[in-house]
Amino acid sequence: MNKFAALIIFCIVFIPCVAKDGNFVLIIDAGHGGKDVGAPGVSNYEKNINLDVALKFGELVEKRMKDAEVVYTRKRDKFVPLQERANIANAAKGDLFVSIHTNSLDKRNRNRKTIKGTATYTLGLHRTDDNLEVAMRENSVISLEEDYTTTYKGFDPNSAESYIINEIYQNHYMEQSVNFASILQKQFVKTAGRVDRGVRQAGFLVIRETAMPSVLVELDFICNPTQEKYMASEKGCSQLAEALYNALVEYRKSNHDNVDSTRQYATSSQDEGKDKKTNVSRAGIEYKIQILAGRSKLPSNSKEFKGLKGVERYKDGNLYKYMYGATTDYDEVVKTLKKVQRKFKDAYIVTFKNGRLEK
Ligand SMILES: [Zn+2]
Repeated sequence: MNKFAALIIFCIVFIPCVAKDGNFVLIIDAGHGGKDVGAPGVSNYEKNINLDVALKFGELVEKRMKDAEVVYTRKRDKFVPLQERANIANAAKGDLFVSIHTNSLDKRNRNRKTIKGTATYTLGLHRTDDNLEVAMRENSVISLEEDYTTTYKGFDPNSAESYIINEIYQNHYMEQSVNFASILQKQFVKTAGRVDRGVRQAGFLVIRETAMPSVLVELDFICNPTQEKYMASEKGCSQLAEALYNALVEYRKSNHDNVDSTRQYATSSQDEGKDKKTNVSRAGIEYKIQILAGRSKLPSNSKEFKGLKGVERYKDGNLYKYMYGATTDYDEVVKTLKKVQRKFKDAYIVTFKNGRLEK
């Protein structure tokens, strides 16, 4: 191994570990870059707008949020494959992944010059062709990578069938991702005066591969010259970055409140005595392991359960959540979780109180 190779390995192994213990790690992903210019505008490219807003957002976080660390997937105009972006995020053990993009309509679309508004996407099954179209456009960059069929396990960015599978990737992080996306949409309206096109779902590869709450933002439409001008201006860039920052503050506050109530519960149950089993059942508490969630109603013998028997289905809003291993014994559920995670690496423990899912 020569010195150069040793340095590269050092960087790969050690640099992502610089995240300090207890710090909130924010991953900022400026979409596209280098030979992948993204969507074109009249006088600019998507890749430049994404990068400017990403850097500005990061700067605000670094300046104002002392317990946060920012990790960028790129800080300059360079090509970074989608899988590598997710790898950077996972190696840094990110707490939140924000991918920044600029929207565009197809050249033949008559609304190109007038369409406007911001949308935030989380991973999921597209409900409309519009959402699928956006995901296809953003994913098509992988065709610039050599051997992309191997890297993305046969995923074809241009085939609608490839997107069906995405539903089973929805998991653990979906609720937090949707929570951040909703807060962010409100902030884009309030702080940056954008038209709200809502929180949406589609199969974006870059957020499929990240093991943390993740969203993909389409700031506004670069095909509309007025919106392009706004996004490329200093004022536009600052307002969009402020909106992202304000949303982050609000999101962290909402998570913090949730964590505090969980801690309180853990402490009081420990104080009540050593026999957790008796205590929890008296309090109407039951533990289960959530293995999957999605909009599809799966049968009890579904192949998606990978051979687990007795998986329960729980309807939560418009989602079905699939649970396994119900017990009132916390130690037992922890043991079961370890086994289940061999098949479902993102499975996690949920608590039911008197038959209702605790949040
Ligand atoms: Zn894009």
